Amino acid sequence: MKKVILYLLVFLLALSACGAQPTGVPDNKILVTVSIPPQAWVVEQIGGDLVSVQAMAGPSDDPHTYEPKPAQMAALAGTELYLTIGVEFEQAWLPRFTASNPKMSVVDSAAGITRMPMASSIQLGVTGTQEGEQGMLDPHVWLSPALLKQIAENTAAALAALHPESAASFEDNLAALEVQIDQVDQQVRNTLQGITRNHFMIIHPALGYFAREYGLTMLPVEVGGQEPGPEQLAALLDLAREYQVSVLFTQQGFSTKMAESIASQIGAAQVVTSDPMARDWPANMLAMAKALEGALK
Ligand SMILES: [Zn+2]
Repeated sequence: MKKVILYLLVFLLALSACGAQPTGVPDNKILVTVSIPPQAWVVEQIGGDLVSVQAMAGPSDDPHTYEPKPAQMAALAGTELYLTIGVEFEQAWLPRFTASNPKMSVVDSAAGITRMPMASSIQLGVTGTQEGEQGMLDPHVWLSPALLKQIAENTAAALAALHPESAASFEDNLAALEVQIDQVDQQVRNTLQGITRNHFMIIHPALGYFAREYGLTMLPVEVGGQEPGPEQLAALLDLAREYQVSVLFTQQGFSTKMAESIASQIGAAQVVTSDPMARDWPANMLAMAKALEGALK
């Protein structure tokens, strides 16, 4: 009789454990939700087998305009930890995320990072009003190795706070991740060693921190998140000629027509489609460095 009760108890416990997690998430893993894919890569490196991670915005989503789908809202149910990074949709959606899962811990993975103002070619002499630009800070912090390390440290600390029993493992993985980030940084520096010019043009100014880190100057086409007006575009094209810009970075989801038209007007040798939201951070950093090396030699 006792045995039967014990089996029943084990069975019920197993049932309730299954019920606590959405389907597809293995039991006993820490379910972490992040805003963007590069954060998911960081969580995987630090959490290893102990975590299961999902990103709200996908690689080709625009974090400035992204809105979660109902299925993603549902998938938040079993989330133990939500890591923000300061992208725009968090402002509107985070209150709804926490309302749908009040037990979830929310931690800012970019805590301690000082953001710089969003770059604009206006600052470089393109005339136009700066309306809409004021107070806008650049959210693309993950594309700088030094800042990604800060994000990694915050991530490890957040995981360790929730699961102190695994803190040693998170610490070890963090140390290995920081070595890997340093190696990528060094590879990018080596790749860019031979460049002779340092200006590049980009539709959406996602590479501000990357440019700052590697001594490059980004000429953004967008003005305050909008396509430039005819006068602004003409001034921008003058700048591009002045600096002999031969590469234009664009990204998925942006007008290819505009990119091609600008590229042909400045005689850009290359239009590079880059993805600031790519999950594979090392591969993405090295691909951007290679593209710039080819264009700025
Ligand atoms: Zn962006």
